[in-house]
Amino acid sequence: MSKIIAIANQKGGVGKTTTSVNLGAGLATLGKKVLLVDIDPQGNTTSGVGINKADVENCIYNVLIDDIVPQEAVVETKIEGLNIIPATIQLAGAEIELVSTISRELRLKKALNSLKQQYDYILIDCPPSLGILTINSLTAADSVIIPIQCEYYALEGLSQLLNTIRLVQKNLNPHLSIEGVLLTMLDARTNLGIQVIEEVKKYFQEKVYRTIIPRNVRLSEAPSHGQSIITYDPRSKGAEVYTELAKEVVSYE
Ligand code: ADP
Ligand code: MG
Repeated sequence: MSKIIAIANQKGGVGKTTTSVNLGAGLATLGKKVLLVDIDPQGNTTSGVGINKADVENCIYNVLIDDIVPQEAVVETKIEGLNIIPATIQLAGAEIELVSTISRELRLKKALNSLKQQYDYILIDCPPSLGILTINSLTAADSVIIPIQCEYYALEGLSQLLNTIRLVQKNLNPHLSIEGVLLTMLDARTNLGIQVIEEVKKYFQEKVYRTIIPRNVRLSEAPSHGQSIITYDPRSKGAEVYTELAKEVVSYE
């Protein structure tokens, strides 16, 4: 069994990258073979697992644009079972360069096809836009995890994302499904958080993960040490909830 999951929401700062790194680490810790695919030109997932971008030889840009053998862009991380195809700032040009490329929406799908058998999970960290890189991710994926930040206007902009998912289902990838909706950065001290949870559950119903990610300072510190929360502070609340999320994701296999 092998599953490709895109982690997508065109809003920035909702926890896509934090979820990619820490769900990836959580799944690897459960003994799964995991490949992270960083397709955000900011490359935060790449640095988040301790890869120095200056040392990256081949990145996702070379896979998408230069047609290199995808395996040549795969790098091991310090966590056993967790590999990554990194992103560097080179990727910033890809949106424009892909416009004139044949089957431009299918580039990532083709690349991942040759790697899929080696992994239990491939997690794609999407950029904060609904451009061609996110379309590539949704086309390559079996399913999508949508992180939603517990804040005012949490559902704002989601209709655009859902519309894009429908368009991809109709034109490019009929079997794409919603894997789950993840509530992130909950501040349990406020009523607002509770209201947002209810609102999101009313909208997405059983698609909402039981695991809710609270605000946790350790989660925001870990990336500057190039570590997942599970290695940075295994006893933290953040490590606990992302491990729980990994178990929940596995339970839906
Ligand atoms: P995105 O990839 O959607 O832009 P990030 O995962 O980069 O979002 O998160 C945005 C910021 O919020 C980052 O600085 C990150 O460290 C921080 N952050 C994410 N999740 C949490 C959390 N549960 N608690 C505290 N800080 C968080
Ligand atoms: Mg990000």
